[in-house]
Amino acid sequence: MPSLLIKNIGELFTGDIARPRSEARTLLIEDGRIAALGTAETGTEDAVLDAAGGAVLPGLVDGHVHPVLGQWTPAQDSQGWIRNYLHGGVTTMISAGELHVPGIDYSALTPDLVVSIATVTAATLNRVRWSGARVYAGTVLLVPGMTEAHFDRLAEAGAILAKFLFYPWSAETAEAQRYVRLCRARNIRVKVHTGGVSRSGASVICGYDILAWLKPDIAGHVSGGPIPMSDGDIDKLVDDTDFALEIASSGNYGATLRLVRRAIASGALARLTLGTDTPGGTGIIPRGNLRNILFLCAICGLEPAAAVAIATGNTARAHGLDVGILAPGRTADVVVCGRIDGSAGTSVTEAIAHGDIPGISYVIADGRIVVEGRSEQTPPPKAPARLAWRRDLGGFGSIASALGLVRAP
Ligand SMILES: [Zn+2]
Repeated sequence: MPSLLIKNIGELFTGDIARPRSEARTLLIEDGRIAALGTAETGTEDAVLDAAGGAVLPGLVDGHVHPVLGQWTPAQDSQGWIRNYLHGGVTTMISAGELHVPGIDYSALTPDLVVSIATVTAATLNRVRWSGARVYAGTVLLVPGMTEAHFDRLAEAGAILAKFLFYPWSAETAEAQRYVRLCRARNIRVKVHTGGVSRSGASVICGYDILAWLKPDIAGHVSGGPIPMSDGDIDKLVDDTDFALEIASSGNYGATLRLVRRAIASGALARLTLGTDTPGGTGIIPRGNLRNILFLCAICGLEPAAAVAIATGNTARAHGLDVGILAPGRTADVVVCGRIDGSAGTSVTEAIAHGDIPGISYVIADGRIVVEGRSEQTPPPKAPARLAWRRDLGGFGSIASALGLVRAP
C-alpha cells in the first residue's frame, strides 16, 4: 500500500480530548496506519498531499446511525446516504439499532426476531466498505426473554453494541442488569434510548431513575432524540454518574446547551460523545456531525479542538473502537479541510468558533483516499489541498486503484 505524506498542515486536531492539538505540520501514513507526526519530507514517499495551510483532523465518528440494508434507508426512502456522510467527513458510523425494517411490528418483537435482524445486518452491512466508510451494524434491540445463547449469536456476528429501546421499563429489573453483564462479558457495549418516546411511538420514557441503577456504557441522546429527559435529570446525570453521555443531532438545542455547560463546569468533557441519530425523522444529514461540532463551539462555547475530540476520539473510545485519534500506530482515518471563503476569522479554528462549517477537500480511510479533491457535501475551502504523485507505480490507473481512487460503480 503506497505511503502518503500530508504536509503544510496549518492546524492539527488530534482527536484526543486530553491533548486536542498538535504542533506537528506533517503527518505520514504507511500501510493504512499513521506512521509519524511532524516527520520531515524525505522524498521517498509515494505521494504527497499539500494541505495548503488548512486543518487536519481524524475522520469523524457518528456514534448513532440507523442503517437497515446497504446504503438504502426506508426511513427517508433514499439511497446512498453512507456515501454522502463520508463526504461530510464521517469515516466510521455505529448503528444504534436497525429498527426501520419495513413492516416490523414493534409490539411483537421476540428475542429470536431481534437477534435475527441484528445478525443479518451485521453479516451484510459490516462486510462491505460502503464507498470507503466503515459501518458497525448488528446492534440488537434488547427485549425481555433473551438467553445467553442469544448474546453468543450476537458476539459471533461481530456486534459491538446492544441497545435498550423497546425494553418495557417499569422498575429496577434483574433481567436488564443481567443483559448488561452478558454484553460486557462479550465485549459488547450497552446503549440506552433516553428521554421521551421515539418516532416509533413504542419506546418507554427513560431518565435518571433508570440510568442510575442500570449504568449503561452510553446514555443515548441525553439532550433529546427528539424529546429529552427533564432538566433536573440531565443535571443529575452529569453530577452523579460516570458513563458516556451522547449528544445527537435529533435532540433539543436548549437541553444540549444546558448539558454542555454543566459538563464544562464539572470537567466532564471526556464523557461526551456525538452522533446524528439519523437516518430517521430528523432526516439524512451528511453535514450533521460537522454541525454538531459547530453548535458545541458557537453556541455552547467549547474550544474547537475539544469539540473535534468529542466527535472523534471520545465517541470511538466509548464504543470500544481504535479510531478517532491521530497518533502513531492508529488507524489512518483523516479529514483535510480548510476555511471557506466568506467565513469568519483566518483559520479553521476561528471559523468553527464562529459557527462556520469548514470545507472538506480530502477524506482518507484506512490510509486510502476515499474523497479526492473536494467533498460533494461541503463548499470547497478557499485554499484546497493538492495531491502530487512522487513515485510512478505503473501509471495513474494503478496508483489510483492502489490509493482507492477508483470508485465502485
Ligand atoms: Zn436513534
